[in-house]
Amino acid sequence: MPDVIETATTARAKCRACEKTIGKGELRYGEAYENPYGEGEALRWYHLECAALRLPDRAPAVLEASAPEADRARLLALAAEGNEHPRLARVGGVERASSGRSHCRGCRELIEKGAVRVTLQMREEGRFNPAGFVHAKCLATYAECPTEAAEKRVSYYTAELDDATREELLTAIRTSNPGTPGSSEEKSGEEAAS
Ligand SMILES: [Zn+2]
Ligand SMILES: [Zn+2]
Repeated sequence: MPDVIETATTARAKCRACEKTIGKGELRYGEAYENPYGEGEALRWYHLECAALRLPDRAPAVLEASAPEADRARLLALAAEGNEHPRLARVGGVERASSGRSHCRGCRELIEKGAVRVTLQMREEGRFNPAGFVHAKCLATYAECPTEAAEKRVSYYTAELDDATREELLTAIRTSNPGTPGSSEEKSGEEAAS
């Protein structure tokens, strides 16, 4: 069964990426997967935007075929950016650090309590699992992408921030150093363990 885009007939499904409800009547992206508890396949639901942001490897084909024309180019561009800079697809949100105990996955320094940080998630077996944090200013170098791409990516996660926090976040990224492709080598053992 291929992935699908369809109109939500109820408001009961939650998006597997952002965990917010998908409204009745909204378009939703269904990711087909082998149902571990029974026969056949089942679907995991996502907002179209969340599918483009978080499933860049598989969403483009279905977005190309079935996303509404008005949104198609924007969604495909988001997915393309995630394929070009795969670590951008790990971005799961932005927040102020609630403690001073987390280390930045970019520069490895401690993230001060109250600092604006980006939360990362790794996708494993269809789930988005917590994978640490980076300073806002370290996102572009961590993701090996231009600052514009980092800024654009986090702008999808700022809806619940107050104006001051949003500005602090975007300024930190805008004035940071861009990343260089291939600069931070993926140490797979370490990434998996920490
Ligand atoms: Zn979502
Ligand atoms: Zn850092």
